[in-house]
Amino acid sequence: KAKDFGKNSHRFFSPQSYESEFGRLLLENDLRRAVNRQDFSLHYQPQVDLQGGRVVGVEALARWEHQTLGNISPDQFIPLAEDIGVMAPLGEWVLRTACEHHLACSSSGCQPVRYAVNLSPTQLHSGNLVPWIFSVLEETGLDPNFLELEITEGALLKNSKATVAAFNTLHAEGVRIAIDDFGTGYSSLAYLSQFPISKLKIDKTFTSAVTTDEKSAAISRAIISLAHSLDMRVMAEGVETREQLDYLRDLECDEIQGYLVSCPLPANETMQFLARHSLSEFPL
Ligand code: C2E
Ligand code: MG
Ligand code: MG
Ligand code: MG
Repeated sequence: KAKDFGKNSHRFFSPQSYESEFGRLLLENDLRRAVNRQDFSLHYQPQVDLQGGRVVGVEALARWEHQTLGNISPDQFIPLAEDIGVMAPLGEWVLRTACEHHLACSSSGCQPVRYAVNLSPTQLHSGNLVPWIFSVLEETGLDPNFLELEITEGALLKNSKATVAAFNTLHAEGVRIAIDDFGTGYSSLAYLSQFPISKLKIDKTFTSAVTTDEKSAAISRAIISLAHSLDMRVMAEGVETREQLDYLRDLECDEIQGYLVSCPLPANETMQFLARHSLSEFPL
């Protein structure tokens, strides 16, 4: 009997699948606990306006340092947080922390800049998007004009009537909407005319190849011209080299974000960065 059991368990739990299933379960538990304890930090990546040469914003990016595994990429833990139903409290912590950082920076004398916060699909479709955003803005005292929400194309497909209404309300109060990773999601462009969108962010797969691959260059050019003809601003993300910058500047891209300017910085270094660069042109 013991032998049969051993055989069965071997068949159902091969060492690999046992490890990955078990590992995922442990990670889920750790993530739940991290959300309860708000055991995350935010890094902020500067954004530069190519016309005036000024740092005009930062994007807040969530960081999770696991006790034993070290830093886990948000590309891993954000989808996991969605799966296990803890994205709402995590997302609320992110927004609140970013708002508080903005206010701390401004009150320490920095020129106030726009803070971009990523929203995942479940946050968008939670049904109480508008009330929770306004309640965080009210509680922290952040002027809505300093908040930009980054949303991916795919997130705009579902439930679009309610989302259009929500975005119109946010937009009327000054909150801006940017489309993140533009060009990699759904192929219909109809939503661009339905939502009050202020900015398209060219995905870094195009940016990174803009000087080496003609098709990426053509796509970048098309996105820039699409944005401008729709009265939107356009930002290139993931700009790493001067050649990419020069190319994008020639295409009349409005803003850039990427390692060429700065990698995402911890909260205190962000303050120093903004203090240093908020009054003068950024040396590009
Ligand atoms: P994203 O919003 O498209 O953010 C840009 C990502 O590109 C960041 O990765 C950033 O560190 C990276 N990056 C910036 N400049 C460069 C560059 O010059 N070269 C390269 N190769 N990469 C660059 P990160 O921080 O790992 O975040 C990955 C994704 O996780 C984000 O992509 C976003 O979709 C998601 N994410 C991060 N924080 C949050 C959050 O608070 N909420 C939600 N919903 N999603 C988040
Ligand atoms: Mg983003
Ligand atoms: Mg992006
Ligand atoms: Mg991304």
